[in-house]
Amino acid sequence: MKAIIDSHAHLTWDSFAEDQAEVIDRACEHGVVQIVQAGVNLSTIPEMIKIADRYRQIFFGAGLHPHEAGSWGDEMETAVIRSASHPKMVGIGECGLDYYYDHSPRDLQKAAFRAQVRLARELGKPIIIHTREAWQDTFQILEEEGNGEVRGVFHCFTGGPDVLPRIRALDFYVSFSGIVTFKNARPVQEAATLVSPDRILVETDCPYLAPAPHRGKRNEPAYVWEVAQRLADLRKVDLTDIARITVENARRLFGLPHHPV
Ligand SMILES: [Zn+2]
Ligand SMILES: [Zn+2]
Repeated sequence: MKAIIDSHAHLTWDSFAEDQAEVIDRACEHGVVQIVQAGVNLSTIPEMIKIADRYRQIFFGAGLHPHEAGSWGDEMETAVIRSASHPKMVGIGECGLDYYYDHSPRDLQKAAFRAQVRLARELGKPIIIHTREAWQDTFQILEEEGNGEVRGVFHCFTGGPDVLPRIRALDFYVSFSGIVTFKNARPVQEAATLVSPDRILVETDCPYLAPAPHRGKRNEPAYVWEVAQRLADLRKVDLTDIARITVENARRLFGLPHHPV
């Protein structure tokens, strides 16, 4: 039986408001055996918990997206800490630095990211990193605050082979999204052939970034197979091998049960 894990999804977005249950059912029908929701701000935490409580195969991470870094403070920090006692809370994030969009001032992005790396270390949870055109600062903060004790994933990888040695030194995972299926994503595709088989993950980051041939439409967890297929082609292995190793890796990183609880 085919099985795969979508390691990063946003199921509480407005674009799923009409048919969230159908989208989740469709993921099940397509063998998406587990899904990790990524948090972006304070209000998504209770919404994600509601879904995680309803569906045994769905988990969540809690954190503050760099786009919203300005709202980091005691209230957010307390909410993340409190959510960490939920049995299906599996990571801190998504958090990090985004110098491509620069929706928040960089000093605020860095402060919020630094605080969340510290939290991941204190809580013993893996960190879900969103980084765009900010590799040096991201690595520096991870090294300074993580102290070699934080595990995690670079989600929706947009870098190239040049950043892989430093990721390897941190012993982090690399998660590929629909971007790896895009024709113009050469460096990402090259990196996809080089990541160690025990450190590779797949995700949709839905509702964004639908993989080819769905590009431009709303994305959903069932489409994670298109990402896996592209990885299989690039790495010249079978789709079933990619599915198997990415399931094992997601379970190891996030501590997901081997049989959905
Ligand atoms: Zn992201
Ligand atoms: Zn995301």
